[in-house]
Amino acid sequence: MIILKNISKIYRSKTQVVQALDGVDLSVNEGEIFGIIGTSGAGKSTLLHSVNLLEAPSHGQVIVADQNLTMMSKKDLRLARHHIGMIFQHFNLLASKTVYQNVALPLKLLGKRQSEIKSKVQPLLEIVGLTEKQANYPRQLSGGQKQRVAIARALACDPQVLLCDEATSSLDPKTTRTILELLKKINQQLILTILLITHELSVIKKICDRVAVLDQGKIVESGDIIDLFTKPRSNITKQLIHAHLRHELPQDVMQRLSPQAGEDRNPVMQIRFMGTTTAEPINYRLAVNMAIDINILQANIEFIKTEAVGMMVIELLCKPDKLSLALAYFTKQQVDVEILGYAKHTIH
Ligand code: ADP
Repeated sequence: MIILKNISKIYRSKTQVVQALDGVDLSVNEGEIFGIIGTSGAGKSTLLHSVNLLEAPSHGQVIVADQNLTMMSKKDLRLARHHIGMIFQHFNLLASKTVYQNVALPLKLLGKRQSEIKSKVQPLLEIVGLTEKQANYPRQLSGGQKQRVAIARALACDPQVLLCDEATSSLDPKTTRTILELLKKINQQLILTILLITHELSVIKKICDRVAVLDQGKIVESGDIIDLFTKPRSNITKQLIHAHLRHELPQDVMQRLSPQAGEDRNPVMQIRFMGTTTAEPINYRLAVNMAIDINILQANIEFIKTEAVGMMVIELLCKPDKLSLALAYFTKQQVDVEILGYAKHTIH
């Protein structure tokens, strides 16, 4: 549904030249929810805005629904853009218009008749759960409700593709969850292809089918969301997963953790495995066969889409020379393991 071929973007000003995108190839299938993740400045916004040519690439081709947008006249591009909806972090609603009028706006701009507009807008307000609020103004709505209006407006012209530009980044976690659920619902009900950018792994984890990791304008890794979590390959992906996890690590562990190994420090590692039943035997065998005691710092089952992926952070209570033994054991068991750092011994 979306094909980006060798996209590069160079921003030039009098004082500097910035290469925001560097040879990006991407293919998003019809009906898929595809996420692009990266740290700030990675090129995510530039990439997303290339898809509807809000930001024209310096090089490369953009093909959406079998139409090559980069080859189109301005007039044809204007028409094609009606079928690419977009929502933003700050909603971009018109403050002087009601909920109904905001959603109706794209249809009004297309010169549709009032009756036609009404028959389109009412069901959309229903889908996003705002029928009751249609006469309200944006200032009378919560952040989540504003984003619902923006979603309904983006759907007004029956898009085949919805672009989401950090759409939940200014919402609290609970509202984020409800907006992501709504996006999933419209993805399924309308067979709508969704391309989203975010700096939050939690967003990707919740709804994406596939994901690409962007770093310094290049895609460094892409694939199925479960593989990304269980077998991250690039350093940036590992960092993103660690940042996501560390967020949840207890404060006292964070304080004891250092990147350097040492005689007075225990290795702390994250182990990842599919399913829910593997963790206990692994830890048991490590303790019994290798005489390595384990302190479980964190254990949870992450649900990535519908798949259960076990993640555990453990501290090995052993001298550094036993670490390689433990690592060899994990490799043999096909358990993905990553050292997060070394924690100072606690004084008992
Ligand atoms: P992200 O969305 O991942 O934070 P952006 O796409 O906004 O990244 O930016 C990628 C790079 O391009 C950054 O170095 C940014 O400073 C630069 N950039 C973005 N927009 C412009 C612009 N209009 N003019 C000049 N540089 C820009």
